[in-house]
Amino acid sequence: MNTIPSAITALRAGAAKTCITPTLGTPINGDLTPIASRHIHDDLHVRALALDDGSTRMVFAVVDTCLLDRGLFDEAKKLVQQQTGLAPEQVMMSCTHTHSAGSACSAHLSEADPAYRSWLPGRIADAVRCAANNLAPAQVAWGNGSVPQHVFCRRLSIKSGMTYTNQLGVTTERAKMNWDSPHPADGQPTGPTDPEVFVLSIRHADGRPLALLANYSLHYVGDVGTGHISADYFVAFADRIQQLLGADRLDPPFIGILSNGTSGDINNWDPKVGSNSPAPYTRIREVADDVAQEVLRVVHQMQHRRNVTLRARQGECIVATRRPDADEVREAHAVVAGRPVNQLKTWPENYAREQLILADYPAEVSMPLQVFRIGELAVAAWPGEIFAASGLNLKKQTPLKPLFNIGLANGWYGYIPPPEQFPLGAYEIWRMRTSFLETNTIPKMTASFVELLKSLK
Ligand SMILES: [Zn+2]
Repeated sequence: MNTIPSAITALRAGAAKTCITPTLGTPINGDLTPIASRHIHDDLHVRALALDDGSTRMVFAVVDTCLLDRGLFDEAKKLVQQQTGLAPEQVMMSCTHTHSAGSACSAHLSEADPAYRSWLPGRIADAVRCAANNLAPAQVAWGNGSVPQHVFCRRLSIKSGMTYTNQLGVTTERAKMNWDSPHPADGQPTGPTDPEVFVLSIRHADGRPLALLANYSLHYVGDVGTGHISADYFVAFADRIQQLLGADRLDPPFIGILSNGTSGDINNWDPKVGSNSPAPYTRIREVADDVAQEVLRVVHQMQHRRNVTLRARQGECIVATRRPDADEVREAHAVVAGRPVNQLKTWPENYAREQLILADYPAEVSMPLQVFRIGELAVAAWPGEIFAASGLNLKKQTPLKPLFNIGLANGWYGYIPPPEQFPLGAYEIWRMRTSFLETNTIPKMTASFVELLKSLK
């Protein structure tokens, strides 16, 4: 029962989480080689935030997993629509991109676990439904801070005069991944980082913390134990910000959420130093704490308010795919020689297998683009792994400011590098299931986002 007279037109919010930890033994998604899970360090969740201004309802659901394809997201949204009447365009679903979670979507050598895949959409829908069940009079505020010390471009130009042989045996590329860094061939980063941490803070009408949705453009941290299931620093952040806000043991529980931004080329460690962590989870805790402390500083400067207008829009962006030609398919067949995936050990062998898979891909794909308006704040949800430069560019070009970007949302189309990165080469460019869209995809998506954002004005 609503006791606040203005609440009919003022904001209501609700948040909830559901547990999605798979049974041990399930393959872990995200690694270049498949590994069976053998320990649960921390449970995986879907964390959902529902907002309602009396005429528009929207839900943000962030899933502790590496990546999910559009088919799975659409299935979850269909369940939401059947159960609650919420249209798909009002529901944003995204992945945190933890690399130590269950495998519901095939990529690299991690094939989907069919049982986990069929179970997951119902659990995502449950989180959305429970967040809506918890709707209560609320107040909202937003703001941004900066955590520059934990983001590094992981793509490096190759120093002039140096020859570098990449994992495919190619020596002509002009950029490399940081996999073997520090390395004598390491030159300058090929793109910028986006150090912004964006904060959407939700309180109950009486001021108690209700939920907090943060956003940071970092791929993940990854210093988990071997074979461990973990939600990486995303869960460590949720736990720490709850503690810092004094929001432990509330009923309904406070829900902290950390969404991924545009981090396709952004890792946590400095390539000049290397990737070693002192012990598993050390760096995860360090990054989570630094992001949470900055979020707390931002929250302390905020003025929460009850009246905001909500809007949601969705569009489609159609782009061509990059696929092998007949000669390349013939060459790939010669390399694979009919062997099953578990007998393909080297990068060139797996690259050849990827060509055979891409040969059957459609000539073009239609991707969902979503935008939201919360008062003056805009949110853009991108379906893939977007580079920091592209997120920064939309933050500049948007007709609605401020704006933050959520990546890996509503579908997965691999890395989507901006056009200027293609001539440089390196992993995120290699034509595989992890990168298969036309080179002009980012300009097309950006133009579509700007049009969608104009329609929210
Ligand atoms: Zn990734």
